[in-house]
Amino acid sequence: MGAELSAYSQTRLAVACLEARRTRSRPVLSGYGVGAALLTEDGRLFSAGNIECYGQTPSICAERVALFKALSEGADRFAALAVCGGPLPGEPETFCTPCGVCRQVLMQFCSPDMPVLSVLAPDSIRIWRLGDLLPECWAPPASTNRTGGYHESHKGTY
Ligand SMILES: [Zn+2]
Repeated sequence: MGAELSAYSQTRLAVACLEARRTRSRPVLSGYGVGAALLTEDGRLFSAGNIECYGQTPSICAERVALFKALSEGADRFAALAVCGGPLPGEPETFCTPCGVCRQVLMQFCSPDMPVLSVLAPDSIRIWRLGDLLPECWAPPASTNRTGGYHESHKGTY
């Protein structure tokens, strides 16, 4: 089995992604604010909002901003991801999950067993495994150093 996520980590992730949505998302085209928070195995938290750009092509999802922030700061072992989204202003009203592009990118750098939380509020969370969100996907062999991100030997409780 993969990593289990403590109630403390779930709450920490939920609060961080909700805060990132409120304060960091820049949905200038859609008005749909997304927040993401990525927890590393060593306890660091990287959060981000979606950033939309005129012309749309350069826009990027909150999940990939959070992941790329983490990777660019040297983090490469991830314990869990949380995401929330919905029209701004207002609180999320439906459970938001990563888009297909983000799922594929996450699969490159994270374990298929990594918990992915969808958050409405700190006490309203749904949890999937990354691999369940992208079944039968293309992925490098488990023996491959993906960034090196995913390492079988680093599964545990966070
Ligand atoms: Zn995405």
